[in-house]
Amino acid sequence: MGSKMDSGISITAEKLVDITARVASKIKVEDREIEKAVGISSFNLAKKSVEKVAFWLTESRNSLLYCKLCGKGPFTKRGLYLHLIRLHRNEIKTMLEEELKNEIRAII
Ligand SMILES: [Zn+2]
Repeated sequence: MGSKMDSGISITAEKLVDITARVASKIKVEDREIEKAVGISSFNLAKKSVEKVAFWLTESRNSLLYCKLCGKGPFTKRGLYLHLIRLHRNEIKTMLEEELKNEIRAII
């Protein structure tokens, strides 16, 4: 895999960190926001990656939200979103990069 492709993945992942944190926090994200962030050609790839990574970030116990990365909680939706963005931004970006690479490999 070339470095040009890797830097493209890194840029795409960066654009998806905020959206992924919102999806993980059960805050509504419209499809067109994802499309606007990454462009229509990467939409399906981006949406799949966001959903997979978001699943690994949080868990819901007794309808309360907890961070799966460090176990903290319970949080409100907004509180969890801020926690993810402030404390786990780099982890989320790395997870998105890995997932985007996996999705691309599955296509080619
Ligand atoms: Zn955490």
